Amino acid sequence: MFETLLLNFLFLLLPVVTFLIFFEHKAHSYNRKILVLLSAVTMSLCIAKPIQLDIGFIFDLRYIPFIIVALFGGYKHVLPLYIVLNIHRFMVGGDGTISSLIFSTAVLLLVPLYSRRFIQLNAKGRIISAAAIAFLTIGCYLITLSIIEVEVDREFWILTMNALTTYAGVTCVIMILIERILANIKNRERIMQSERLNVVSELAASVSHEIKNPLTVISGFLQLLNKSKSLSSEEKGYVDLSLQELNRAEKIVNDYLSFAKPQSETMIYSNMSAELEYTKNIIMPYASTHKVEIHFSFNNTLSKDYDRNEIQQCFINLFKNAVEAMKEKGGGILDIEVWENKQNIIILVRDTGIGMTKDEIACLGQPYYSTKKEGTGLGMFMVYSAIQKVKGSIDVQSEKGKGTTFLITIPA
Ligand code: ADP
Ligand code: MG
Repeated sequence: MFETLLLNFLFLLLPVVTFLIFFEHKAHSYNRKILVLLSAVTMSLCIAKPIQLDIGFIFDLRYIPFIIVALFGGYKHVLPLYIVLNIHRFMVGGDGTISSLIFSTAVLLLVPLYSRRFIQLNAKGRIISAAAIAFLTIGCYLITLSIIEVEVDREFWILTMNALTTYAGVTCVIMILIERILANIKNRERIMQSERLNVVSELAASVSHEIKNPLTVISGFLQLLNKSKSLSSEEKGYVDLSLQELNRAEKIVNDYLSFAKPQSETMIYSNMSAELEYTKNIIMPYASTHKVEIHFSFNNTLSKDYDRNEIQQCFINLFKNAVEAMKEKGGGILDIEVWENKQNIIILVRDTGIGMTKDEIACLGQPYYSTKKEGTGLGMFMVYSAIQKVKGSIDVQSEKGKGTTFLITIPA
């Protein structure tokens, strides 16, 4: 009996290990389908190699993949498993076919109801609740079974207890493995993203540095030239114009590439109120020409060390994107709310613009990612690197056509 149990456990490891070895590093949309397919294979193997118990009925772990897929994937993904399970069970035949059908239907209908909440839990919560659900489900099954089919005696209850602990324990182990894999994937993505940030910002720093020097030299000589007495007033006008344009070029280099370098002279310790007010006022005319109303509220007393220029640039980029998203809808409302929560400064920027799909949200923050005709794709990149520098996090919620909310949390 113990050997069959181990065999069942091995079957359960099959999808986990296969996924880990072959598919983990490829982010394809058909990954889910492969996982469902592998789970179906596991389930069939479990049905084919059940544990024969002394008192007549058989026991296996087929409901573990079923429940886990139902929790992670919801109705859409568990339905194929349900079909495979029942076809296979009918082919095996014998007693309990009908009760298996009724039971699997109940699991199919009930467990995915919890899926949405389940996915939002953290890793620990998911492990515990998956084990609890497996325990409860099989508990209900065995209790029903004891009422309608089997004679209840001491032996039955001992077996029930064993079955329940096995289910809960094995679900727990499988869930720990799954969560570990998920955490690894996430970590790797985070490292890759920050690696990309480093490379690009280093590049940007060196380029802006390289450009700034010749600009300074040119403007120096032009200023000297301007003082020359042999220049006609017309020529002086040309030099003035050149100087003006040079100034503008310097500004652009400063504005767009300044984020690459920490500028110690602009580091301050404050509650961001001045920066938010300032950037809100800067964006105001732009917003009103596009019929965007700005609602602003500020309730924060916490302070933080940050680079003033960088944070200003970051807010401007966020607000500008929000207005641009609403421009295409002919106007809207830009909500800017700041408050504090347990030593965190929370900044919310909400627009009623065109919104984004999940895939678009996933691309946010990658340098040069833009969906606009004349977009640079540097705005959000800069926002992410500025927030990363103050050790904050950004949460994006968006619905296509409805609007977008950026929730920025900065530890004070
Ligand atoms: P750019 O604005 O130059 O396109 P950004 O880095 O600022 O570059 O933004 C990248 C992309 O992210 C935009 O092209 C847009 O598709 C998307 N985006 C950013 N903010 C929003 C928003 N508030 N609403 C909808 N889409 C947005
Ligand atoms: Mg932008």
